[in-house]
Amino acid sequence: MAPAPLHASKLVVELTTSPKDVLANEDLVFGKTFTDHMLEIEWSKAEGWGTPKILPYHNFSFDPATVVFHYSFELFEGMKAYRDKDGNIRTFRTDKNMARMNRTAKRASLPSFDGEEFMKLIDKFLVVDQKFVPEGEGYSLYLRPTLIGTTAALGIRGPDRALLYVIASPVGPYFAKGFKPVSLEATDYAVRAWPGGVGEFKLGANYVSTIVPQEKAIENGHSQNLWLLGEEGYITEAGAMNVFFAFQTPDGKKELVTPPLDGTILPGVTRDSTLILAKEKLASDEWTISERALTIHEVIARAEKGELLEAFATGTAAIISPINNIEYRGTHITVPVEDNTSGPIAKKVNEWIRSIQYGEVEFKDWSRIA
Ligand code: PMP
Repeated sequence: MAPAPLHASKLVVELTTSPKDVLANEDLVFGKTFTDHMLEIEWSKAEGWGTPKILPYHNFSFDPATVVFHYSFELFEGMKAYRDKDGNIRTFRTDKNMARMNRTAKRASLPSFDGEEFMKLIDKFLVVDQKFVPEGEGYSLYLRPTLIGTTAALGIRGPDRALLYVIASPVGPYFAKGFKPVSLEATDYAVRAWPGGVGEFKLGANYVSTIVPQEKAIENGHSQNLWLLGEEGYITEAGAMNVFFAFQTPDGKKELVTPPLDGTILPGVTRDSTLILAKEKLASDEWTISERALTIHEVIARAEKGELLEAFATGTAAIISPINNIEYRGTHITVPVEDNTSGPIAKKVNEWIRSIQYGEVEFKDWSRIA
């Protein structure tokens, strides 16, 4: 028999007998507490995708030889569910997360699946655990779809068993009291990703190597690394976020720039949304929206000429994280912000995206009701 595809209609649900209390919004800490249930689906090479199950949140038990513990057969996604003013639960552009997860799975020799079927299951999971989707601006339920290789053998080869699962954590706004701009260390002694590598995939293995440089940046008074690449000092990403710079151009116009998806950059959903919305909403006779290579040297030179207007990072967790300072080899680049918050474009993009996520504005088919 051919291996079975992933089918949402096969879902079985076992409800918890010990429901948790829902924390007050002010007590939410990112990724610390989880909902009553989890979604899981086993896969084997011989049989394909098994029965999808929503089960009480539980520990796993794996043989110590399981490949996830040895060769990093692990990948994940990060997305959020938002409660709109009518009480509906909404997700944002999850087709992009599904596509990215499947691309990453292929690169990791893990099984791919029908993203729409998986989203139907996540919708069911959201309905089961709906009491944990917080109300209020900036509050949401963070979803962590994860795929691991579960073959218990030390041979270095593609796993013949895997587990796809989703856990969910209620979270508060990244900036509880309005934007707080961050300072970045432009890091060139370590690289996050390189040409021909796996930086464009959401593999867990891409994150472990960033922690020591991040700790060093924090020791030096910064929040995050601005990841550079190569002798040219190409700017790639900021921490675990994509990055945008706005410049005044010599012809009196303005340019919003983000580095191109050349394989060294995680194709962020927020990055893509920012590009689409900026192209649609910023006056095209004033603004050029560019995906182009950008070096730290260009940023320094243009900041010196007064042409650097603003800079910000984009990602699901914060939507927008404004940048007010970048340190490169001891030189500080001051990035303009208004009232110690952010520049005007960062504010606009944040509001465009937030209003679609919370269903206040309909835009294309970007918001989905569970
Ligand atoms: N870059 C990296 C390395 C990331 O981990 C993330 C978070 N997924 C992003 C960028 C932003 O992606 P998204 O907008 O899809 O959250």
